[in-house]
Parts: sequence; C-alpha cells; structure tokens
Amino acid sequence: MAKFLLFIVVLAVIYALVRASNRRSKPPPEARTPEAMTRCAHCGVHFPRTESVRGGENDYCCEDHRRLGVRS
Ligand SMILES: [Zn+2]
Repeated sequence: MAKFLLFIVVLAVIYALVRASNRRSKPPPEARTPEAMTRCAHCGVHFPRTESVRGGENDYCCEDHRRLGVRS
C-alpha cells in the first residue's frame, strides 16, 4: 500500500513539473504570431497586412492610393 501511495506522489510530482515547464516554454501570444507586413503598391510604405486596402493583386495603405493604383 505504501508503494502504491509513493507511486501516486511520484506521478503527481512529474505531472506538476511537466506543466510548469510547458508554461515556461510557451511564448506570450503576441510573440507567437508576428503580424504580417505588406507594402503599399502606390507609395511603397510598409504597414501591417491587417490594415491594408486590397485592390486586385496589390495592397494599398489607404483608399486614396487604391484608387490611384500602382505607381511605376
Ligand atoms: Zn500608399
């Protein structure tokens, strides 16, 4: 019976250690997913893709530049 209890305690300790190491190795959420950057096809400025205005195949920084289109 004592061996069985010792076995349970050892399992609990291992479980706690694994959980603690998992928590430590996990990076913070904002570091895990770096924001994708894109480039305005008109003025060339770089900005987060989530803020882009889509125009056909290209990304633009604002609605005005989308209307003006690609500047060569
Ligand atoms: Zn632009």
